[in-house]
Amino acid sequence: MDIDLSGEKLKSLHMSSLDEEEDEEEDQNDDVEDEVSDEDDEEEDRVPMTLGFVEKPKNPWTLLRQYFPSKAGGTPAWLDPINLPSEKSSLCDFCGEPLQFLLQVYAPLPEESTFHRTLFVFMCPSMTCLLRDQHEQWKRHPETPSRSVKVFRCQLPRVNSFYSSEAPAEDGTEQPLTAGAKLCNWCGTWKGDKICSSCRKARYCSGKHQTAHWRSGNSSHKVFCRQMDTSDKESESAASNFLWPEYEIANEDEGELDEEMANDEGSASSLISRSRTDGSFGKLQTYFKGNGENRSWASFQERISLAPEQVLRYSSSAEAKPLWPVSSGRPSKLDIPKCNYCGGTRGFEFQVLPQLLYFFHVKDSEDSLDWATIVVYTCEASCEGGVGYKEEFAWVQLASQSISHR
Ligand SMILES: [Zn+2]
Ligand SMILES: [Zn+2]
Ligand SMILES: [Zn+2]
Ligand SMILES: [Zn+2]
Repeated sequence: MDIDLSGEKLKSLHMSSLDEEEDEEEDQNDDVEDEVSDEDDEEEDRVPMTLGFVEKPKNPWTLLRQYFPSKAGGTPAWLDPINLPSEKSSLCDFCGEPLQFLLQVYAPLPEESTFHRTLFVFMCPSMTCLLRDQHEQWKRHPETPSRSVKVFRCQLPRVNSFYSSEAPAEDGTEQPLTAGAKLCNWCGTWKGDKICSSCRKARYCSGKHQTAHWRSGNSSHKVFCRQMDTSDKESESAASNFLWPEYEIANEDEGELDEEMANDEGSASSLISRSRTDGSFGKLQTYFKGNGENRSWASFQERISLAPEQVLRYSSSAEAKPLWPVSSGRPSKLDIPKCNYCGGTRGFEFQVLPQLLYFFHVKDSEDSLDWATIVVYTCEASCEGGVGYKEEFAWVQLASQSISHR
């Protein structure tokens, strides 16, 4: 990844359409930096974190919604399969394309209302949109925020109309109690409310995905549209070949990694081969090199090096803090908006690391998707009521942040 290039790109973005607020924003960011570094001096408190690693599932059924998976790539396993996020929430606010599924984390909490609880992250795969998202992110509390990264929280009590109140069968035979909403035949992600006017069978979330399916090569709907019998089969999985590859997210406790490392070095007991040097970590190193962020990068590297392939860091503790790869481009408390639904405080819950891009085979080119970390803040009360999927808040830190804000 060429850091200079993305910096250049961001600068030109500033220049063209969004330059008015630039001065004001820079002042604001100076304040932010100060607040952050105060907080940061008590950094060495080590709240135990749960780490997430991507793996190909041994049994594909473990990724079905009735098994309450944590997963990355492919399509979401919607917890509430009916009341999906509505039209505008499902779109990138910059280019208007339907967002792509990044990952979901099953994170139940002790309350009855959060017996099942899953957080879903979606983003637009366009780096141009993410750079615009960056600019929006620094505007404190805009009336209608424009984002290319969106997080939704969904929760259900133990007794609910979608799943059995008992633990799912361990042999893969578990069935959900109700069918889910019909999904888009192209993305397999969002509700398929629009029906092909010719076959009256194929369903789409948007005109954009209908067009994409019609124009796609081998699996083109142009071919299947006239074959009424086969069009039902067609709807079973997403036709799009642009989805990110699908993985299960497996957990490991960071504290246990510490002990393992101390007690028996080189033991092969772990499920994840931490010594593997297949390039993901090397890529990261070159990625951050020479951007003047060495202090933060060094502590980030030290912490990550216990398990370099981690893609996710999770903690439900109120004391947990995100691990910032670079020191600039961090939010202060004031930058994290209150819960849209109950007005309560949002706290850090998990962060996504750039290693995920490696597992998603995202290319190292100028305009391909890139981030240093995506930090997710959720309502501390995990409030109930209202819509099935509540929008939470994501803060995105780019490696080129220092360039964009100085
Ligand atoms: Zn977009
Ligand atoms: Zn779609
Ligand atoms: Zn059709
Ligand atoms: Zn709330």
